[in-house]
Amino acid sequence: MSINNYNKIIPFKSNNKEKELKTAVKFQRRLIPSKFAYFYTGFLGLLTFLQKCSIIHIANFDELMSWLGLLFAVLTVYSVISTFFLTICPYCHRFQNLFNGKSVNGDTEGISYSQGMVPFIHHCNRCNAPLSPKAVIEHYKKQA
Ligand SMILES: [Zn+2]
Repeated sequence: MSINNYNKIIPFKSNNKEKELKTAVKFQRRLIPSKFAYFYTGFLGLLTFLQKCSIIHIANFDELMSWLGLLFAVLTVYSVISTFFLTICPYCHRFQNLFNGKSVNGDTEGISYSQGMVPFIHHCNRCNAPLSPKAVIEHYKKQA
């Protein structure tokens, strides 16, 4: 398949809300481990912060951090790779356009802006299919 064909996408057309909801739930479920890895980064930062500010006292902090750091490296690699492969759109069967930089999604809660390998996806950024249950519901609301 040439790059030209790959970028030629038939825009998403909804036809079955029940089926689309099921697809969205399945799609989001696949991303749970990636999301976990994503949050782990924040957890590690928080732990360091708490120790540095003497809010918590972990005796073997440096040793613990080197283990957590190793786990962090593994999780990050896992998250990036899995996010890349697991976010293949179930409708247009394309990888998300992650390496081209930006994706901007507008919904009722405002505009969310994401860049890079972020496992929080609500719409396919190629065919614009709704990929989270919330996005499916919003999609049908807009049509009604
Ligand atoms: Zn798609």
